[in-house]
Amino acid sequence: MNFTFQLPTKIFFGLECVAKNSAEFAQWGTRALIVTGRSSARASGALPDIQQALAQHGITWTVYDEIEENPSLAAVETGGAAARDHRADMIIGIGGGSPLDAAKAIAVLAVNEMRARQLFGGNFPAPPLPIIAVPLTAGTGSEVTQYSILTDTERRTKRSFANRCVFPKAAFLDARYTQSLSRSVTINTGIDALSHAVEGYLSRRGSFMSDQLALDAIRQFGKAIEALGKDVLTIEERERLLYVSLLGGMVIAQTGTTMVHSLGYSLTYFRNIPHGRANGLLLTEALRFNQAAVPEKIAAILAALGMKTLDELKTALSQLLGAEKPCTPDEIETFANIAIQATNIANTPRIPDVADLKMVLADSLPSS
Ligand code: NAP
Ligand code: FE
Repeated sequence: MNFTFQLPTKIFFGLECVAKNSAEFAQWGTRALIVTGRSSARASGALPDIQQALAQHGITWTVYDEIEENPSLAAVETGGAAARDHRADMIIGIGGGSPLDAAKAIAVLAVNEMRARQLFGGNFPAPPLPIIAVPLTAGTGSEVTQYSILTDTERRTKRSFANRCVFPKAAFLDARYTQSLSRSVTINTGIDALSHAVEGYLSRRGSFMSDQLALDAIRQFGKAIEALGKDVLTIEERERLLYVSLLGGMVIAQTGTTMVHSLGYSLTYFRNIPHGRANGLLLTEALRFNQAAVPEKIAAILAALGMKTLDELKTALSQLLGAEKPCTPDEIETFANIAIQATNIANTPRIPDVADLKMVLADSLPSS
């Protein structure tokens, strides 16, 4: 065994973890910029909890609640200016992956004179403001990763920057905040978490340690899959999904993602398909493509899910996700040619070429 495992984020997991650990906020500053989406921080009940914790410790705050799904470069630049105007000394991200990723970019832009586009270079002179993350989806695991994924309209895709300085200092995971999620966002984000665990397990950058976390995440997902399709989930079921998401984030922070995410970005960018749904549509065919290279890993994934075949997985995911319009030949051509340039392609055990990506896309979104 020989591995490096970096996870600098302090994790608080459990019901009412914000109120129970409010002193943590005081460690990181006295003036906070809260970065969030339009409504989820209020709808979930997270915002009042955090405001109460901040007030208790004499921390002032301003709320910047204009982060849209798949955050744009413009939105994080405006957020950087808001942080400077407020003279913020910490950034609190509350939301799904979109606000959490935006919070990381804003923490960098607040203290560096640069355009958002330059973030993709991954280097910035001044260390970002400390970031605290409160996830509202079970989901991306962004609360424990060094990645921020932004929309690049110039390259017509989503791109990430990675820097260990943007690992959140602390993360508060309270499953109560995920109770306000709609059925479809619960499903899409849950499948994103599965995808992280599966891709991390397959990744060429995996290690003994990340594999254990990935397999546990996949096992827990297998136990949660029935609940995922329900209209109302119990708090225990929500907690299990949040735990899968946390483990998935811890895994991809070490391993990166693979061709599933590379291709998924095109489905989101061009077809507006939500991130987790895009991954879920592609996952089984990507596994089939990799089966020849790593049959024992595919078998271990299926065993952890409690399934026997990839077709069984495909049926289970299709039942949750429903049908999707097939890609046109033009779309397949464009999506594959963009995806091949993504850096995470290189983590895939069987490295695809453009023709392989086209095949996986066509098989994943078939014409009926
Ligand atoms: P999201 O884009 O953050 O949110 C999707 C929708 O769900 C939004 O309308 C949001 O509303 C709503 N929502 C979120 N939490 C809610 C709650 N508790 N109650 C009610 N509504 C809620 O979704 P996501 O799937 O979590 O994040 C996707 C993004 O994360 C993508 O950009 C993806 O590329 C990125 N990602 C990042 C990483 C990483 O490691 N950094 C990993 C995977 C994916 P509001 O608009 O009001 O917020
Ligand atoms: Fe993801």
